[in-house]
Amino acid sequence: NKQFLLASRPTGTPSSENFKLVEVPIPDLKEGEVLVRSLYISVDPYMRGRMNDYKSYVPPYSLNEPIAGGVVGEVIESKSSQFQTGEIVMGMYGWQTNGVVNGKDLQKINSDIAPISTALGVLGMPGLTAYFGLLDIANPQAGETVVVSGAAGAVGMIVGQIAKIKGARVIGIAGSEEKINYLKEELHFDEVINYKTTSDIKADLRNACPNGVDVYFDNVGGSISDAVLLLINQGARIPLCGQISLYNLEKVDIGPRMQPLLLINSALMQGFIVSNYMSRFHEALPQMAQWVAEGKIKYKETIVEGFENMPTAFLGLFSGENIGKQLVRVAD
Ligand code: NDP
Repeated sequence: NKQFLLASRPTGTPSSENFKLVEVPIPDLKEGEVLVRSLYISVDPYMRGRMNDYKSYVPPYSLNEPIAGGVVGEVIESKSSQFQTGEIVMGMYGWQTNGVVNGKDLQKINSDIAPISTALGVLGMPGLTAYFGLLDIANPQAGETVVVSGAAGAVGMIVGQIAKIKGARVIGIAGSEEKINYLKEELHFDEVINYKTTSDIKADLRNACPNGVDVYFDNVGGSISDAVLLLINQGARIPLCGQISLYNLEKVDIGPRMQPLLLINSALMQGFIVSNYMSRFHEALPQMAQWVAEGKIKYKETIVEGFENMPTAFLGLFSGENIGKQLVRVAD
């Protein structure tokens, strides 16, 4: 069994040096356990936080232990009455070619609904993050202006499309021409801004949002968010989903202080973690699956081939290599 372990904790931007590939025997199954062969393994921005040794909403990864995260795989052997050989399942056993997992920590995936990889993307954690962050916290109304940063990523592109389903005007911010074209041409975002090539993001945002900003779904933080917040309207809602532009900073970045704008506009900024909504996932998943089936939500995946490329795929999240959900295909 191949595994990637956390070899060292990064300072600043992580590198492949922080990971170590090892090969270990697969242990015998105990009662209740299932052997799963990994097919798709997820890499996610939150993993960067878990590489640090400080307290967050999930514990840090331990040194010399496999990196934990979402996997879709096939049951190879089962000592659980709940699972049979050949079934497709989702688990959190992470960067390993095979996992020995207690059956209670696995979920079955129905491959009739959508391709199995979507259990890690649009019909999994990122899709649910978009759904609850946008609908529960921001509740966008028809005709309102919704801005989303990280707009071409796994969460961002779903946020924009749900906002369009609700009748909002949607402005996306992303970091390459390919992403901008995809959001405009394929997903019909109303305006899209390339934050890497613009000479004046504030002016671009003013032009794109002549009626101000009612909802800002923040995936990135930093100076992009500072520019959006200048335009918030009375009663604006700001789901604080991610701050990826800050995850690799070595020093705390204070930035402009925007609280007066929140105050004078009676705006709501609310952080959230998707797992807060666990008890309501069953509401969201059928709705998301229906939108996907109806073609109202499109999704995209960027797939890196081969287990040994796990670190490369992960590091690419911070240089923006991915459009939509970044996955690694480990086996067919
Ligand atoms: P993405 O698929 O969006 O991948 C990350 C993207 O972030 C990259 O493709 C890149 O796109 C962009 N990015 C990287 N560095 C920067 C930077 N310095 N400034 C601006 N953009 C940057 O990942 P996810 O959709 O999985 O996650 C998006 C955000 O949501 C993350 O911040 C993540 O931590 C957060 N999140 C929060 C959850 C929660 O429960 N609160 C759950 C899931 C995700 P580009 O080319 O546009 O720069």
